[in-house]
Amino acid sequence: MFDIDLRSDTVTRPSDAMRDAARDADVGDDVYGDDPTVNDLERRAAALVGCEDALFVPTGTMGNQIAAQVHADPGSEVVADADAHIVRWELGGLARNAGLQTRTLDAENGIFTPEQIHAVCHDADLHRPGTGLVCLENTHNARGGLAVPVDRIRAVADAAGAHDVPVHLDGARLFNACVALDVDPAEMVAPVDSVLFCLSKGLGAPVGSILAGSEAFIDEARRLRKLHGGGMRQVGIIAAPGLLALENRDRLAEDHANAARLAAGLDALDDLSVPTPETNIVVVDVSAAPFDASAFVDACADRGVGCGAIDDAHVRFCTHRDVDRAAVETALDRIETI
Ligand SMILES: *Cc1c(COP(=O)(O)O)cnc(C)c1O
Repeated sequence: MFDIDLRSDTVTRPSDAMRDAARDADVGDDVYGDDPTVNDLERRAAALVGCEDALFVPTGTMGNQIAAQVHADPGSEVVADADAHIVRWELGGLARNAGLQTRTLDAENGIFTPEQIHAVCHDADLHRPGTGLVCLENTHNARGGLAVPVDRIRAVADAAGAHDVPVHLDGARLFNACVALDVDPAEMVAPVDSVLFCLSKGLGAPVGSILAGSEAFIDEARRLRKLHGGGMRQVGIIAAPGLLALENRDRLAEDHANAARLAAGLDALDDLSVPTPETNIVVVDVSAAPFDASAFVDACADRGVGCGAIDDAHVRFCTHRDVDRAAVETALDRIETI
């Protein structure tokens, strides 16, 4: 299909070490709490982000959905960016799974201002639903992998806290943000009530995400995971690669450097405009070109380079472990011929 697949960092394949770890993992029935490997992963993941407890979930989507359901009562509002993953790419799950109403705001620079939070949060009354949750995203996927600084997260969390509204962080690419900003993951997560991060994207695990928060939050999340059909048995087989993924965080800097190189190379081509990426997501504006985004994506595909259209005028490339610098240079050479 593509020999250089830059559609997403979800396309990474497990390393030989991950495959070995899966085969050799100690396992037990995790619904009984008996799987030592996933217990180890949950303990280490919680410690890494400075939370009391953590839960292994099969996907980031399930983790976000469970988090919203634990935090917010049915009928209440979830405040989120209009372009947030939890709003746009989770099939309306907040409404369908949890009876929640989304209250979308425009988060310029990837995060709300405290003023926006003060203006939108309110208690339930005779006419209005109350605010049940504020959801943030870091890095912000739809805004080109923006890394949101921790002081801005803290400012929003403080504002939400003043209204007794909890904050969930969709940190599918949390460690990309931490590496880009040189911030300790526990410091990044400290202001919020729960966090979701993916083991399966740039960290390279084949499957899995982590939801972390307080002990009480995770106890309830564990019940809801069962409700959603996510209570798994000898899960150490897929948790073992996740343990190695946790050790892979520093390598994300390489993806960021490759993304910067890709962006600079594309920006130098006629009719393409490409801002310098902060992390591993490159957004190409083709509005000045004589072709639209999907024609550009098709032309890249014809040359063995995978990317994806965001809308008529924008195309996304995502760097990851399975595309090295030489492959980035090859992709640029091929795209130049379009
Ligand atoms: C990928 C992603 C998710 C969901 O992860 P899946 O494992 O694909 O369900 C959630 N939020 C953001 C911002 C993502 O990029």
